[in-house]
Amino acid sequence: MQEGRLKTLRTGGYEIDLVDDGLFGLDGGSMFGIVPRHAWARLMPPDEANRVDMALRAVLVRGGGRVILIDAGIGNKIPKKLAARMNIRRDEGTPGKLRALGIGPGDITDVIATHLHFDHAGGLTTQVGCEIILTYPNARIHVQRACLEWARRPSEKDAASFMAHDVEPLVGSPNLHLLDGDCEVLPGIRVISTNGHSPGTQVVVVSHQPSPSFAFLSDLVSTVHHLRLPYIAAFDVAPLDTLNEKKRVLSQAVDEGWIVCFPHDTNTPACTLAKNEKGEVVARNKVAL
Ligand SMILES: [Zn+2]
Repeated sequence: MQEGRLKTLRTGGYEIDLVDDGLFGLDGGSMFGIVPRHAWARLMPPDEANRVDMALRAVLVRGGGRVILIDAGIGNKIPKKLAARMNIRRDEGTPGKLRALGIGPGDITDVIATHLHFDHAGGLTTQVGCEIILTYPNARIHVQRACLEWARRPSEKDAASFMAHDVEPLVGSPNLHLLDGDCEVLPGIRVISTNGHSPGTQVVVVSHQPSPSFAFLSDLVSTVHHLRLPYIAAFDVAPLDTLNEKKRVLSQAVDEGWIVCFPHDTNTPACTLAKNEKGEVVARNKVAL
């Protein structure tokens, strides 16, 4: 894979910056589902507790008078014991990184939450003393209705992926904007709703021809390694839906020349794609943002 460097990506009328919320570790077996350890361990070497290092990534999109955050990071509400078990390494997280870009919490106009798993949605709210407040008080929070409904009543299989203290403060908030399926959330920013990882997980596409579209794939494709079709996390509630959605979305990404961004890849935050001689979608050029 070749490497290119862009400081701030400009696509259409928008500027895009990646926001590094921190790092954490998840069980490598869980991240790769049916793939045997000898195959994934070469790609993402596990630590002594079998955890693989995962980025916690949000994306900042600015333009057209809007300051938009895609996902909000893991936040500061994870209990200490669990934080240690997941080897969370996070200083000031997303709010600190935004501050370095000259953006305060009140400046964010929109948050597009790809889904409500705690590693993406924990940062929507912040613990201040005994209180939990919205981290971005002026932001509309765009979430798929199916996603919110599932997050409030998950199955026994995936209940550990959600935390009530992330989800319940959103319910009834005037900031919440529920979406029903694919739509254009803001001019040139559309979402594709998928159901394999978790119901209503949305891929966010920032598009404007003739510039390349930028797509945050969320956990439909968590890392560059998950471009391989059978590489599907055991966390997914409907792995065969993930498979079909990956085929559909990645084929569109290749056809339309998208730059794709992965939420959890520590080495390849974003890349362009191509089809190899077998017709498989593979990374072409790494795009460092
Ligand atoms: Zn995730």
